[in-house]
Amino acid sequence: MFSQKVYSHFPNSSHDSLSHLSHDLYANQQKQWQMLADGVSALENVQTRAIDCGTFSVRLQYNPKRIVSTGAKVDAASIKERKCFLCVANLPAEQQGVLFKEKYLVLCNPMPIFKEHFTISHIDHIPQSIEEQILVFLELAKELSPEYSIFYNGPKCGASAPDHMHFQASPAGLIPAENEIDERREIKKQIGVVTISAVKNYERSVIVLEGKNEQEMELTFLRLAGAMRVVLNTNEEPMMNVIGSFDDGKWRLIVFVRSKHRPAVFFKEGNDKILISPAAVDIGGLVVTPMEKDFRTVDAEMIKNIYEEVSISNDVLRTIIEKI
Ligand SMILES: [Zn+2]
Repeated sequence: MFSQKVYSHFPNSSHDSLSHLSHDLYANQQKQWQMLADGVSALENVQTRAIDCGTFSVRLQYNPKRIVSTGAKVDAASIKERKCFLCVANLPAEQQGVLFKEKYLVLCNPMPIFKEHFTISHIDHIPQSIEEQILVFLELAKELSPEYSIFYNGPKCGASAPDHMHFQASPAGLIPAENEIDERREIKKQIGVVTISAVKNYERSVIVLEGKNEQEMELTFLRLAGAMRVVLNTNEEPMMNVIGSFDDGKWRLIVFVRSKHRPAVFFKEGNDKILISPAAVDIGGLVVTPMEKDFRTVDAEMIKNIYEEVSISNDVLRTIIEKI
């Protein structure tokens, strides 16, 4: 029964904030659901390592449990064969969530990268698509602030359930890009109250949208997606990862424009294989390595190469911004 999956509602008659309800859910689910408790305690022992990449830094996280997600088969045939793990009917018996506006369930991720890590899943099995859901993304960013940031992985660049619409949320400020973007951004354009910036010396192709008006943020994001579609010459959703936050009455969307999902080294054999599969968190500077060998050997040069390989060129990025 669907109602058994609902731990609490947002909004509710007590006017609890979504961030409070989500935090409360996470604490409760750790007591009720062993898989989550195990995931959280495993995270306490993961090793991390900082890599100085010159103009920016990256943190590696050696997290063996993430092999399921990092190594996930996301081709159409494999997706069709498996039971969708985000459909309400297939959730583990113990799993419950916060029902957001009768449309999305805020769920705890049992294989967390962060101390609190949520998957925010649509209650229906509809495909991953940010253009259709950008308003919800903006609403969630606001309602989860200031405690959490929200992020999105495109169906072909990081989502392990490309067939089921979902976002994720993490404690604000834990993805390095969230703290590094401000000092590197160059304002390129202003549309209404929305500022459009590029980010320099970052080895990744990034466009930042900032503004105080929800509707104008929505429209500008849709214009950006339209410009990407034209310049990148695709009928599908342009490949992107998006990190969203809301602070001091203002939204900020950090959009990583992608040329491909996985770098060539991901597909190599034996010792040459590096199991790094960049999604929003990784391209944002917190790189998850499920294999110990990779955690020990990956260096700044490899990270820069991977970032460059999965991003687009500065020229193409400039053309997209011109076309917005
Ligand atoms: Zn589903």
